[in-house]
Amino acid sequence: MTTVNRIVSTETRRTRPATHAVIAAVWTRDEAAVTDRRWTVATVLQAMNRAERFYTQAPNGRQARVQRYTCAECRQEHIRTHVSDTAIHDLTILPHAAGAPRAVVDSTLRV
Ligand SMILES: [Zn+2]
Repeated sequence: MTTVNRIVSTETRRTRPATHAVIAAVWTRDEAAVTDRRWTVATVLQAMNRAERFYTQAPNGRQARVQRYTCAECRQEHIRTHVSDTAIHDLTILPHAAGAPRAVVDSTLRV
């Protein structure tokens, strides 16, 4: 069975040199779990190597896939909403969590 993970918030960082902001970490929520889980992007990429999938969910319940891509600017792998799913929902409009690992109450962490 494929594990699917719903991303509920993101952490971004500026690259050095500060040419663009990238997603550095995400928080996922298991509906059955009490707490959210923080994943660095490296951990997300490792999970994708194990065929785990990530998505975000729009208020209407539709799901947008998250994909990995190699950035043209820095040649690093980042994650983003699948280019075919950005009309459904987009990672960039999720709440931004603070950088330090801690419990997330989304909607209060918008920066
Ligand atoms: Zn980049």
